[in-house]
Amino acid sequence: MKYIVLKFGGTSLVSPELRERVAGKIIAAKDEGYVPVVVVSAIGREGDPYATDTLISLVKQTYHDLPAREMDMLMSCGEIISGVVMAATLQAMGYPAVFLTGAQAGIITDRNYSGARILQVQAKNVTRYTQEGYIVVVAGFQGTTEDGEITTLGRGGSDTTAAALGVALNAVYVDIYTDVDGIMTADPRIVAEAKALEVITYDEICHLAHEGAKVVHPRAVEIAMQKSIPLRVRSTFSDSPGTLVTNSGEVYKGTIDITKDRIVTGITYISGIAQFIVRIGATGEGLKQQRRMFRALALAGISIDFINILPEVVLFTVKDDVAEKAVKVLENTGYMSEVITGCAKVSAVGAGMSGVPGVIADIVEALTKDDIQILQCNDSHTTVWVLVRREEMEKAVRALHRQFKLDQ
Ligand code: ADP
Ligand code: MG
Repeated sequence: MKYIVLKFGGTSLVSPELRERVAGKIIAAKDEGYVPVVVVSAIGREGDPYATDTLISLVKQTYHDLPAREMDMLMSCGEIISGVVMAATLQAMGYPAVFLTGAQAGIITDRNYSGARILQVQAKNVTRYTQEGYIVVVAGFQGTTEDGEITTLGRGGSDTTAAALGVALNAVYVDIYTDVDGIMTADPRIVAEAKALEVITYDEICHLAHEGAKVVHPRAVEIAMQKSIPLRVRSTFSDSPGTLVTNSGEVYKGTIDITKDRIVTGITYISGIAQFIVRIGATGEGLKQQRRMFRALALAGISIDFINILPEVVLFTVKDDVAEKAVKVLENTGYMSEVITGCAKVSAVGAGMSGVPGVIADIVEALTKDDIQILQCNDSHTTVWVLVRREEMEKAVRALHRQFKLDQ
């Protein structure tokens, strides 16, 4: 069977008209000879009656100590509602459809509530129903432990459900339908001139997604990549072809070397970051202290990022919401730290920057021209990160987008 997995985000499902549009995309795939398997997110965004955030708000203020197990059961309801409604839409249009929860679709996870990892997909229910001619609609974002506990997969988890099903069914494509025209050179909410990319490699989108571009979940990309299942990110609201995510080998097969001729593919950002500057001794006792400091942070469960170690100063970042805790941990090990809260990490990602001289020069030029102070900078072969103040984040994203001519 030529399977295709179509995943629809919450904004694609908010009204009967939109759900009919979604059904149109599913039916079109069927007419093209594919066997569609549909994955849905909860309907709408925060404030909408059945959105995940709305369900959370039912208990959050009043019942602070709701166990994670019950919380996951509550959160899993949104996708059950939207899946049933989507199956109903297809049925009303004359297409036999069946809805499956994550558990019924065989999405087996670990027991890490609210952030469970998919361990296995037992797709026999999905294949049985599709063989009987049904369009199968699966609840995204949820799974079950081996002993039947309901789990959820964390923000963006429906993308992961879709990718995992795509791998299990050896799908021809996994299509992620959302409210933008594809993976864009930057978040269109910040950069009005951002353009949808035609093709991107798994590696590049993985980096973009990890660095904040939430258009597709990085875990979904990693799963699809394992079996080279092509992902397409497309818009529910238009008929544009969207972005094809594939491995570079396939891209290079074409006559035009699409990924190599661009140095930077996209600009992304993460806010809510605090920078720590810790002065240490350069030798003897100082080295020992350094060891103690990192160990203490690790033992306190504080994840650190953006680490620069120099002989007399250590720089790193933590999430804003654990900054206070980190200050205390450092104080207990005898350190005074300088902390700048309210920072943002802006990243330029591109497989083409590897070994190309002048990327940092371009970045420094773009930011300083706009009077943006660089608090810290780091790079790898596909990403350059700069830390800036949150107030300057949007300006920095736009400046880099312009500098690398991503609007052209
Ligand atoms: P869905 O509910 O469909 O899963 P998401 O909100 O998770 O939708 O993802 C789509 C959103 O991602 C877009 O509305 C856009 O604002 C944001 N986004 C951030 N960075 C990018 C990017 N580089 N390309 C496209 N969209 C992006
Ligand atoms: Mg999403």
